[in-house]
Amino acid sequence: MYQAPLPPHYASLTDAECDLRIQRAKEALGRNLVILGHHYQRDEIIAHADYRGDSYKLAKDANLQPEAMFIVFCGVHFMAESADILTPDHQVVILPNMAAGCSMADMANHFQVKNAWKQIASVLGDIEATEDSSPGNRVVPVTYINSAANLKAFVGEHHGTVCTSTNAPAALKWALGRGEKVLFFPDQHLGRNTGFKMGYDPQKDMILWDPFKPFGGNTPDRIKEATFILWKGHCSVHKRFTLEQVRTARDLHPSVKVLVHPECELEVVQASDLAGSTEYIIQMVKEAEPGSIWAIGTEINLVNRLAKEHKDKTIFCLDPQICPCSTMYRIHPTFLCWILENLVEGKVMNQVKVPEPTAHWARVALARMLEIGTKD
Ligand code: SF4
Repeated sequence: MYQAPLPPHYASLTDAECDLRIQRAKEALGRNLVILGHHYQRDEIIAHADYRGDSYKLAKDANLQPEAMFIVFCGVHFMAESADILTPDHQVVILPNMAAGCSMADMANHFQVKNAWKQIASVLGDIEATEDSSPGNRVVPVTYINSAANLKAFVGEHHGTVCTSTNAPAALKWALGRGEKVLFFPDQHLGRNTGFKMGYDPQKDMILWDPFKPFGGNTPDRIKEATFILWKGHCSVHKRFTLEQVRTARDLHPSVKVLVHPECELEVVQASDLAGSTEYIIQMVKEAEPGSIWAIGTEINLVNRLAKEHKDKTIFCLDPQICPCSTMYRIHPTFLCWILENLVEGKVMNQVKVPEPTAHWARVALARMLEIGTKD
């Protein structure tokens, strides 16, 4: 997505001036404005958020202030799309910087997924998970919430669901209650870690689908045998965590608890003590004993914030080479200031609007996700 440069005077604002101007604009907009902040945002943005959370929580929180006309989503593009889909028409969803995308979401597009679906059907026959399709062949598509709206619409239309890292076990269990196979995109690691936790064998029951190869790089027999068809996508932040880092953390701190996100590779998750969504990580740290030591494998803004908020515990990032999510980082306070000051003047910049019928089918899939909930 293209983002036009900001008017030049925003670049010369000091941090304090920018902060003050955001506060003033917020006051002027009052209950007409709600700011949502993803946990991976920098502290200067989180300080202004009315609600903070991971994608699952924020997808629900978007509805908490129905009287607000403007929802400013400090996160990445697919999150703003989900908020637009889940909120009534009178609410306008805004992304402060249109260049804030997600490299993982970009690893699967509509053309590639449609093409994969056709190829899988050419091997298995009738794969739609409907009442009248032939049992044995039904494939249920599940997309991670980190995907474009047209992929959410694809799963909505093809009897599948959206999932998040919070409800992936529940969503996959739901999917396997309706079909014999799951096509999971775009994050192979969340799919593999969740399937493994459910008792499936990564070698025998799972195949990787490379969208740049015929049949995803698989033989027809392997497609027939597999329960999980995992898209070859990953998160560039969580892929940085390694087994070596887990070993080093344990050598340096024998009592350390290693806690990672399920977007990390299977071997890292297996070597860790605990793994779960961003909200789970926050909860575990909150409940931990004073004096405990935690090596955390997730985005650095969140790890640093946890360390600041829990000074009675030792908290550090598993990766010593600090790495923020570069696209989340594009939501700089000057962009937030620019957006809010324009709203005060009656001008809406950077609205994210998902067109129909994409919005309809994506809403169907997101509604299934919320209905499935988190209980596995
Ligand atoms: S942390 Fe990874 S999955 Fe999350 S927005 Fe950044 S690139 Fe995407």
